[in-house]
Amino acid sequence: MEAPAIFTEADFYQQNFNPRAYLEEYYSMSEGKEWANVFLMQNLRSLHKMFSLDELRGGTLIDVGCGPTIYQLLSACERFQEIIALDYTDQNRQELEKWLRNEEGAFDWVPVVKYVCELEGDRLKWAEKQEKVRKKVKQVLKCDVTKANPTGPVSLPPADCIVSTLCLEGACKDLPTFCSALRNIGTLVKPGGHLVMVTVLGDTFYAFNKQVFSSLCLQKHEVEAAVEGAGFEVKLSEAQPYTESTESMDCQGVLALVARRRPS
Ligand code: SAH
Repeated sequence: MEAPAIFTEADFYQQNFNPRAYLEEYYSMSEGKEWANVFLMQNLRSLHKMFSLDELRGGTLIDVGCGPTIYQLLSACERFQEIIALDYTDQNRQELEKWLRNEEGAFDWVPVVKYVCELEGDRLKWAEKQEKVRKKVKQVLKCDVTKANPTGPVSLPPADCIVSTLCLEGACKDLPTFCSALRNIGTLVKPGGHLVMVTVLGDTFYAFNKQVFSSLCLQKHEVEAAVEGAGFEVKLSEAQPYTESTESMDCQGVLALVARRRPS
């Protein structure tokens, strides 16, 4: 497979992104999907490490481009009182809400939750952690990271921290758009607050359900410069090579990054 000829932007997501197929492909932890499991577990370990940093705690956390997933909140929910999740596509927000309401037919995150509990030293706490996420996510709202006010017309009070996993590289067609999206989402966090990111490096597409989505091909130094240019100071930036071979994406590595918004 290869990247689509035209960059797949937000409306393509709204038309074509099937949340269930995405979850099955990347987050089912099933046998026969070793590459996806390695990718996921690596990202869970990075998130665990980042959300163990002393300064990463506070009142509100905003998840930008949450998609239909909760794995990015599993370590974070121990550190923040309230969570607001944002995404562009209706079907992704609905899939997430289905899980939050514990509805029948919601995606089974238990294997993933157990893995994170194991990282935290108590595999038996998985049910408690699920409850914690369900209680702490207070709102699920529409957003567009390419807009100056990503949640417009709603304005959210700036949060203590924002987390964004695997979103901007899918949402931004080129580096200038990526830089301005970072400035846009930067307004969602207080000066002195933090940005936590998980971003794929060297990737041009990802696919599931025979549908291909483009990815902005990024290098570590480009992401760091974009984050600094958006008014943040990079505190941690660790790239891990990704060497599993799969037809479903061409990612070379994953960057885990923590930055602090400069006081204005
Ligand atoms: N954070 C999840 C989902 C990543 S998939 C994870 O880690 O797996 C990429 C997500 O970006 C999709 O849910 C898509 O709806 C969202 N997205 C795409 N363009 C966007 C935009 N312009 N603004 C906000 N979200 C966008």
